[in-house]
Amino acid sequence: MNNICHNIQNIKQNIPESVTLIAVSKTKPVSDIQTAYDCGQRHFGENKVQELVEKQSQLQLDIKWHLIGHLQRNKVKYIAGFIYLIHGVDNIKLLKEIDKQASKHNKIVNVLLQVKIAQESTKFGMDDALLGEILQQYKNQAFPNVQIKGLMGMATNTPDKQQIAEEFSHLAHLYETYSREFPGFEYLSMGMSGDYLLAVANGSNMIRVGSAIFGAR
Ligand SMILES: *Cc1c(COP(=O)(O)O)cnc(C)c1O
Repeated sequence: MNNICHNIQNIKQNIPESVTLIAVSKTKPVSDIQTAYDCGQRHFGENKVQELVEKQSQLQLDIKWHLIGHLQRNKVKYIAGFIYLIHGVDNIKLLKEIDKQASKHNKIVNVLLQVKIAQESTKFGMDDALLGEILQQYKNQAFPNVQIKGLMGMATNTPDKQQIAEEFSHLAHLYETYSREFPGFEYLSMGMSGDYLLAVANGSNMIRVGSAIFGAR
């Protein structure tokens, strides 16, 4: 068995079946994605729109593509027609643009709201108050062509496991609370190569793993 296949199976053995594994293929060649696809992997994540669009056009149509990085409003139109899930939505203007492009395609686009749980100022995401406000607007049908499927977050890049666990558990708490009010909530996206076990232990059901599958970038 090749390394990519081996890594995927190894990760899957360490997580419950209910957790969706997204193979984060950013910067990696199409041939690596094809290798992972041939081992049964179907969820792939990219963080740049142009790279995502190029790869999507060269690969199988049943791949479920995730846009996991920061998304600029003017690029939504390039992915609205095929994207499976947009993870990094952290403001109302972006949500409105996704809604507009989705309606042009006559479809519903699935998104996750990104909440800032890390200490670093460089990480994107909304605060808890804006999350509440956006969900209130959503409830009032402000974005009819958008389906909010849950929440996404990135923990602080620190060796302090206690801190990471606290950040994950805070997001899990928000997710559980809002899940009661929003039955469309299905995904809590948190955890990467370095912290996915901790994320799953704290309630994650969708992990985004790159280097632990495809090797260092
Ligand atoms: C790159 C990236 C990942 C994967 O990171 P690894 O450490 O390589 O697993 C996960 N989530 C986001 C948002 C990323 O940009």
